[in-house]
Amino acid sequence: MNEHFLLFDVGGTDIKAGLANSNGEVLQVLREPTHKVAPENAATVLVAQLEQLGRRLQEDTGATASSAGLIVCGLVDSEEGIGIFSANLGWRNAPLKSMTSQALGLPVGFGHDVSLAARAELELGSGAKDEALRRNAVVMIIGTGIASALMVDGRLISAGGYAGELGHSQVPGGFDCACGATGCLETVGSAGAIAKRYGDKTGVSVGAKEVFAARAAGDELAAGIINDAVEALTFTMAQLCSSVAPEGIVLGGGLAQAGPGFFAELEKSLRRRLSFHRMPRLISAHLGADAGLQGALILAREVNQASAGQAS
Ligand SMILES: [Zn+2]
Repeated sequence: MNEHFLLFDVGGTDIKAGLANSNGEVLQVLREPTHKVAPENAATVLVAQLEQLGRRLQEDTGATASSAGLIVCGLVDSEEGIGIFSANLGWRNAPLKSMTSQALGLPVGFGHDVSLAARAELELGSGAKDEALRRNAVVMIIGTGIASALMVDGRLISAGGYAGELGHSQVPGGFDCACGATGCLETVGSAGAIAKRYGDKTGVSVGAKEVFAARAAGDELAAGIINDAVEALTFTMAQLCSSVAPEGIVLGGGLAQAGPGFFAELEKSLRRRLSFHRMPRLISAHLGADAGLQGALILAREVNQASAGQAS
């Protein structure tokens, strides 16, 4: 049977919407900025936007969707279908799953963007042929900030939406964080932090890539800032090795593209921190920017199967 699925990936600044067929091919993708509105209207305005995008995708492709997958940023209670909080988009305790399902007239699978991108990465990307990794892994997306997900004994840890905030775990030498705490990993270990610290010291606005290039050219300031990032990241990784013992740590986002040399540095620094612990493999993420829509597709398929099971 050729079924179709609507996919929505709602991030802090834009929405990616897609329509996929039953082979998992994404036939069309639309991208729109999220509307900035008062927090009390955020959920209603978002759902109206999703409904419009869904209608356009079905009109453009001539396909009729049988279910939808929706993933959103922020704190998410995936079991209850609630967007607990989004700093960027403003909703609080919004029943996004039932609102979207009603607007589209379809069953909707709902979850957290990073968790589902991580599931897609482990089921379809780097973990596709790696059973051990699929069962015990940490996925870290290191870009402007640091997002992450923990897979332990084959279960993605959610804890009501509060688990996996590695970017906001405390590290030695951390700075004041936008979240309100001091010392968070992402104030030192993210691509954003590397760029910002170098920019603050030199007065030159650069990206993390340029800081790596500066180090390669012998710039000691750049070398120090990158070294701080490596040490902060492996401090947090070492805590994970003693708490949840991943088989592998999958690294995605801008900083993971800093080259094989960067992985080797992380590995050397992490090894130095461990003794009897299981040394995780450090693996580069395969799926890249598509991981979110692939994660939404996993949810759309699950909810479609569940509702087909109920109907029969
Ligand atoms: Zn923080």
